[in-house]
Amino acid sequence: MKPILPGSAIGVLGSGQLGRMFAIAARRMGYRVHTLSPDEDTPTGQVADLEVNAPYEDLDAIAKFASAVSVVTFEFENVPADTVAAAERCAPVRPAGHILHTTQHRLREKTFLQSAGLPITPFRRVASLDVLAKAASEIGLPAILKTADFGYDGKGQHRITTPVDFRAAWETVSHAESVLEAFVDFDREISVVAARSAEGAFIHYGAIENQHRNGILHISLAPARVPDSITRAAVDITRTVLETLDVVGVLCVEFFVTKDGRLLINELAPRPHNSGHFTFDASVTSQFEQQLRAVCGLPLGSPAQLSPAAMINLLGDQWAQGEPNWAAATAIPNVKLHLYGKLAPRPGRKMGHLTALAPTVEQALADATRSFQAL
Ligand code: AMP
Repeated sequence: MKPILPGSAIGVLGSGQLGRMFAIAARRMGYRVHTLSPDEDTPTGQVADLEVNAPYEDLDAIAKFASAVSVVTFEFENVPADTVAAAERCAPVRPAGHILHTTQHRLREKTFLQSAGLPITPFRRVASLDVLAKAASEIGLPAILKTADFGYDGKGQHRITTPVDFRAAWETVSHAESVLEAFVDFDREISVVAARSAEGAFIHYGAIENQHRNGILHISLAPARVPDSITRAAVDITRTVLETLDVVGVLCVEFFVTKDGRLLINELAPRPHNSGHFTFDASVTSQFEQQLRAVCGLPLGSPAQLSPAAMINLLGDQWAQGEPNWAAATAIPNVKLHLYGKLAPRPGRKMGHLTALAPTVEQALADATRSFQAL
């Protein structure tokens, strides 16, 4: 593959914080960045050279957008298949459309992982209330019902503890094709962010430990506090995923670590991931620069981590009492503040994050927490 060199324009489908941090990395290396989404004054658009405002279904706009750049990548994985196909007619799309197709649908993703012989949470396909009852009798309760299609607007996940919950769960997923997953009583959650080049080179950032609140990532710690054997096993699985899918770009695998030390894959994201945000400050090459290098056909950079790190997400809820106290939060000198330029701080909306760097991950967590509390 002939490398796409600095000075070229890169197209990003989607315009959120992942695209913003990608654009910062790309502009630092002298690339131009174009972004397309239905929104205006977006986190990516504020940093890009060009912000195109069009619905993903406007295939003429997509073709025009892709024709003006050397390669198209994405920061939002629910881009419709027709949109990707329209872009692919005008420019290379990396990672390729078939990877998006697999990972934007829970059933396709789980079926792929199962056929690759990788460990996943027991699940059943559910397409009716009757099937839900049967599936629950097979995999047992508690269980979680999730819509198969991530892009589905009713979204929703519903935890089921007794058969009384079946009807409410089926309402939560709006009667749409779904997946019933066994509830995993995990010891902890980890993720591995990795990148693969067109030549098949592979790098990873080790295991990252993740804590969620209300289903949204709250804290990530790197490195994860797990035995080396777990990190090695998680990295091996991640490498298999990237190689089997023939990924050119960045992909994150999220895992549950069970109480008896087994790994189960929860889900895949074929792009930089929230749990890898620490790499922006703590690593020789961030996950965003790796995405840039991979999609441009450049050699991957060193993923070496310069310092243990802790990241805490800042959600819109943080604005409930008015503007957070940025001066107090930045008074801790080893804590870095990232804000995404979003104007409306709605509850649950990712507005920014804090990353603390310290000699140990425990110290980094303590400093990030202190900064978070000072907000
Ligand atoms: P998801 O959007 O499917 O990644 O779910 C978000 C979070 O909900 C996960 O990171 C877990 O904390 C929790 N969760 C999802 N599925 C399960 C499961 N099968 N068992 C236990 N916890 C789960």
